[in-house]
Amino acid sequence: MSHIKNTDKQYVANTYGRFDLVLTHGQGSTVYDEEGNKYIDLATGIAVNTFGFADEGWVAAVTEQLGKLQHTSNLYYHEPGARLAEKLCTRTEAKSVFFSNSGAEANECAIKTARLWAAREKGSDYYHIITLRNSFHGRTITTLAATGQDTFHTDFTPLTEGFLYAEANNAPSVEELLKTHKCAAVMAEPVQGEGGVMPLTQEFMENLRALCDKYNTLLILDEVQTGNGRSGHLYAFQSYGVTPDVMTTAKGLGGGLPIGATLFFEKSNGTLKAGQHGSTFGANPISCAAACHVLDRIDDTLLEEVKAKSEYIFSTLSGKPGIKSVSGLGLMIGIETEGDSGVILKACMARGILPIKAKTKLRLLPALNIPWDDLKAAVEIIAEEAEKAL
Ligand SMILES: *Cc1c(COP(=O)(O)O)cnc(C)c1O
Repeated sequence: MSHIKNTDKQYVANTYGRFDLVLTHGQGSTVYDEEGNKYIDLATGIAVNTFGFADEGWVAAVTEQLGKLQHTSNLYYHEPGARLAEKLCTRTEAKSVFFSNSGAEANECAIKTARLWAAREKGSDYYHIITLRNSFHGRTITTLAATGQDTFHTDFTPLTEGFLYAEANNAPSVEELLKTHKCAAVMAEPVQGEGGVMPLTQEFMENLRALCDKYNTLLILDEVQTGNGRSGHLYAFQSYGVTPDVMTTAKGLGGGLPIGATLFFEKSNGTLKAGQHGSTFGANPISCAAACHVLDRIDDTLLEEVKAKSEYIFSTLSGKPGIKSVSGLGLMIGIETEGDSGVILKACMARGILPIKAKTKLRLLPALNIPWDDLKAAVEIIAEEAEKAL
């Protein structure tokens, strides 16, 4: 075993099930391991490297900012933060943004906002937040409570109180909880990513909006994974035409640098007052400069390309031998296989492509600009290996 693997195994806390691969460097959707083997990357560090590895334009944007200011704290104004907030608002109709460093933190901010908003608007006993079964919202004690999967909760109790779980794509189950509990918000991922790449239906999203209006609660959409072009729209809510009151994002926003953002729309704007929330690293100028570059690159042409690539994957794999179903939105795709997905994944890795898993499915989260040739080669290998595993 390599020196790097040994050192990691000895000194890094053993909280991850890693693949048996040490990655050293890459370019775009191509990445190399320490033995010099070449791979087509289909995971982008879990929907983070929006334009792949070491993208030239992204590196230039980051490098330029690195030479100016790497950090200021939020005691001062700076240009990349202001510019990024303006871009996010003008492209979503949000009114203001809070910057943090991760998806979990972006969701913590959304949850604090919902509690505060409801306490002011409706009374401090209106603190319940409804989330969906099979959801994933993060790893902090509060975002674990928001995560509607019992396996994540075991032995971490007591979790933050006040979370209730409804069924995805089942509006009556949401309304029942809204009727019987004093609620501040409903929170959902437009496509449940970690839960197996399960999109919410158009009807359910519209129902969520209507129910939140009827019961005067906030609608929080967690676009940590679906955001930043991955869905084929800049944000997935735009593909449903359902506007949230709070939206969170992270993963792909910085294109590989840590940043989280909580966007406040009309109803929630101005809820958090000075001193009620903060983050030392939040709005880090380098992360913000990276994110400005990422957003500038996600234009209509790129989004059309994302949709075309998505359709290609769906139409090529759907109904093929060994493939039970293909689900998802844009370049966030889950593939349910007849054979063991773990076996198929290993075979794919041996043939030089790197998909990941979501539950028992194969999951594809390629760079938005993955070259067509790489995508076609990868999809062909997946089809072949899925058939072999029958
Ligand atoms: C990844 C993810 C999170 C957590 O993000 P971190 O940056 O790991 O804290 C939250 N919500 C969704 C939908 C995610 O996919």
